[in-house]
Amino acid sequence: MGLLKDFKAFAIKGNVIDLAVAVVIGGAFGKIVSALVSGLLMPVIGLFQKETGGDWREWKVPAEGKIQFGVGEVLGAVVDFTIVAFVIFLVVVKLMGYFKKKEQGPPTTKTCPECLETIPIKARKCKFCASVQPDAAQT
Ligand SMILES: [Zn+2]
Repeated sequence: MGLLKDFKAFAIKGNVIDLAVAVVIGGAFGKIVSALVSGLLMPVIGLFQKETGGDWREWKVPAEGKIQFGVGEVLGAVVDFTIVAFVIFLVVVKLMGYFKKKEQGPPTTKTCPECLETIPIKARKCKFCASVQPDAAQT
């Protein structure tokens, strides 16, 4: 089972703990963002809603008869989601980069100082410009 093997390797490396920490922090962060949006950001938007006395939650757009659209609530949720989604995206990208780096280990390529092409780290001569590599003697 490829998937099971992958998961086992993933769990053994201790990544599970890293991921669990990320999930917990992400969840807590989501609450902070929600509180920030509804506590600080939306009241400012509410200022422009004179008819509701500045309370964005009460901002409703009347439609037909008794039907009203709760625009304020939806707007708050949308702003919430946008910020949380952006932050989680950043966290995931950073986290993935971190995991990838962990898995890759030491670099296997280097940049030729003469022609700036990427060549194997153990190369003693550049395959692009044939220049002798300065650090070849050590390896
Ligand atoms: Zn070169």
